[in-house]
Amino acid sequence: MNTQFFAAWIEEIAAAVRAQRDHLTQLDAAIGDADHGANLDRGFTAAREALAGASPQTPGALLVLVGSTLIRKVGGASGPLYGTAFREMGKAFGEAAEISPAELSTGLNAALSGVQRLGAAAEGDKTMVDALAPAAQALAQAVRDGLKPEEALEAAAAAAEQGARATVPLQARKGRASYLGPRSVGHEDPGAASTALLFGALKAAASR
Ligand code: ADP
Ligand code: MG
Repeated sequence: MNTQFFAAWIEEIAAAVRAQRDHLTQLDAAIGDADHGANLDRGFTAAREALAGASPQTPGALLVLVGSTLIRKVGGASGPLYGTAFREMGKAFGEAAEISPAELSTGLNAALSGVQRLGAAAEGDKTMVDALAPAAQALAQAVRDGLKPEEALEAAAAAAEQGARATVPLQARKGRASYLGPRSVGHEDPGAASTALLFGALKAAASR
């Protein structure tokens, strides 16, 4: 996976977020403040523009730029969290021109650690971590099992989807939704849903 692949990933994310913007906003309307779709649409549109302007030369530089742009452009909790995730993944990639599935797995683990360091959410707290952690675990397992890259990304995307759906019966313990206490039960977490979109976009970038 080279710089072009990661640029394609960001394109796929921007398109998916645009297509699902209203859905993400509806999820956030139920247990938050109805801005998650707009936040991410603004952020990934800006990320795309930043990439077009700067043409980063390595996957690492590209992802660090995406992360910094998200931190700058996205208000709310999700901007700094997603921004940190992309920055940490980019930093983990270093100067490499080509990223193997094993290196992608290392990068995702770094992204997850960054999100947890910043947000202090554990699995089961009904946040993006509930999609990100299982996706990172599934990718690590796929690498250990020696799956083909497309199969490994498929496994990660399926795990993220399942993790997002599994947030429905949970009570939120972090972020704005936690203010609702038991009333947060029965709704999918918007950040977990958008994380599933990110992994769907990764799979889509691989099959371009
Ligand atoms: P805000 O809650 O500030 O309006 P967004 O609506 O853009 O920001 O994002 C909300 C999402 O952010 C939540 O659905 C949740 O997944 C995620 N989130 C909030 N707080 C945390 C946290 N401490 N750790 C991980 N994810 C979090
Ligand atoms: Mg919100």
